[in-house]
Amino acid sequence: MLGQMMQQPLLISSLLQHAERHHGRQEIVSRRTEGDIHRYTFADMASRSRRLAKALRELGVEAGERVGTLAWNGYRHLELYFAASGSGAVLHTLNPRLHPDQLAWIVEHAQDQVLCFDLTFLPQIEALAGRLASVRHLVVMTDRAHMPASGLSLVCYEDLVGAQDDHYSWPAFDENLASSLCYTSGTTGNPKGVLYSHRSTVLHAYGGALPDSMNLSASDCVLPVVPMFHVNAWGLPYSACMVGAKIVFPGPALDGKSLYDLFEAEQVTMSAGVPTVWQGLLDHVIAGGLRFSAMKRTVIGGSACPLAMLRAFEEDYGIHVIHGWGMTETSPFGSAAVLTGAQRCLPPEQRYAIQAKQGRCVFGIDLKVVDDSGAELPRDGASAGHLLVRGPWVLAQYYRQDGDSPLVDGWFPTGDIATIDADGFMQITDRTKDVIKSGGEWISSIELENIAMGHPEVSMAACIGVAHAKWDERPLLVVVRKPDSAMNREQLLDYFCGKIAKWWTPDDVVFVDEIPLGATGKMLKGPLRERYQRHFLHAHQGNTH
Ligand code: ADP
Repeated sequence: MLGQMMQQPLLISSLLQHAERHHGRQEIVSRRTEGDIHRYTFADMASRSRRLAKALRELGVEAGERVGTLAWNGYRHLELYFAASGSGAVLHTLNPRLHPDQLAWIVEHAQDQVLCFDLTFLPQIEALAGRLASVRHLVVMTDRAHMPASGLSLVCYEDLVGAQDDHYSWPAFDENLASSLCYTSGTTGNPKGVLYSHRSTVLHAYGGALPDSMNLSASDCVLPVVPMFHVNAWGLPYSACMVGAKIVFPGPALDGKSLYDLFEAEQVTMSAGVPTVWQGLLDHVIAGGLRFSAMKRTVIGGSACPLAMLRAFEEDYGIHVIHGWGMTETSPFGSAAVLTGAQRCLPPEQRYAIQAKQGRCVFGIDLKVVDDSGAELPRDGASAGHLLVRGPWVLAQYYRQDGDSPLVDGWFPTGDIATIDADGFMQITDRTKDVIKSGGEWISSIELENIAMGHPEVSMAACIGVAHAKWDERPLLVVVRKPDSAMNREQLLDYFCGKIAKWWTPDDVVFVDEIPLGATGKMLKGPLRERYQRHFLHAHQGNTH
């Protein structure tokens, strides 16, 4: 017997319609690439998205075709999110921090028909122009007054929107149709396309807004630092429309001062970003003796949030840290370390230790850890194995790789090594490729980095496994000191005493001016491994087992 409830497909356009009808006066504030602040309401945004949907159709964009964007977080990018997906086309966000060769490869692979970009990225587009064979229109996301001079044939975004009225009805279609496309960072091999559907996106927006996830509500003012050009800014644009939260977009200015000023001016209550961004913000507020007047919580993820950062936010600024884990393949929200009622009553150090884990999954995501043979490991918080994930917003197949399923018995192998404890808290000990194998045992690079980051004179730390004659690999710590610090190797290594088993202690420390970051703000360990691959081969160190 069938249920007798309404059949309404879960479409991205329905998020926009909800925001317009029920939160129409809520504000969206953007720092623009033109340099000023722009403000309007959800109702304005919905109206302009309808005009843009008509304009895209007039440019010849058919259902299922890809509309590329190369843009910062801003209201025009948001309009494209809704106009492209809502009209049945596929929004393809491109990461401007990728190498031009990768960008050209991705645009070609995705067969983008239209490419919309912020003024900032004109040089990249000009450099790529001869290699964008599929692209029929290049749209600059600005107004007529700011249109740049260029040898390319460029379309002005505001001209497109201005030429249309907003009489447009969002089409209804199967919720399983593709809505947006995002390529993984591609640190190894070519990038892989993850093609989200309307259904997966709406379910993910629900999951991400729940109290034990990002806990979003209409009383929030959300500033997504996480870029809209990568994994849909962790779904925040959709979740914010779902709950009617005020949105503040930072544009290209992601340094500590610019973010702090915007947090204060707009009374931002919650934000989300990778640890490297928060370090910049913390450095700025510490140096200036500043306080936050409205910030309540921040989601930190994308790579491990150091315990020292968590403690600084919680203790020094009263900002609650939600440590989250996810991947491009999981839309990306996978888990969040939100405490249970009983855990809230624990002493601070015990609470922080739990919050520093990658956390529990919400309904919609299922996690397990398995050994090399695929057998599930106990949920004891100690047995580390390969982390597998499944759920309605988890990838089943990479774009244009049909017949080559990455799944193992219906689960997606994340490439992470993790433990899960009896309360369901998952903790990542390493990326499979970053694990340090010393004398047949694993050493967690994340844990060593975490300890190093706790030292007051460490600004950034990466730990890598380096070939070693006796132990196969030993940990080498690569460190950027805080400005003015003259700390030496012994002082830093002393700091590890008593915090871990002695044989986990890094064999050596090298101090560098900077650690390379990848396109999503994560430390790139590949170049470090290459640079220091022979570091221990001519040294007699590491007899600590
Ligand atoms: P994104 O593209 O969103 O940065 P990627 O797909 O490139 O995500 O990378 C996902 C990987 O990032 C995860 O498999 C994991 O190794 C790492 N990661 C994400 N969040 C965390 C976290 N909170 N702690 C540790 N590692 C994390």
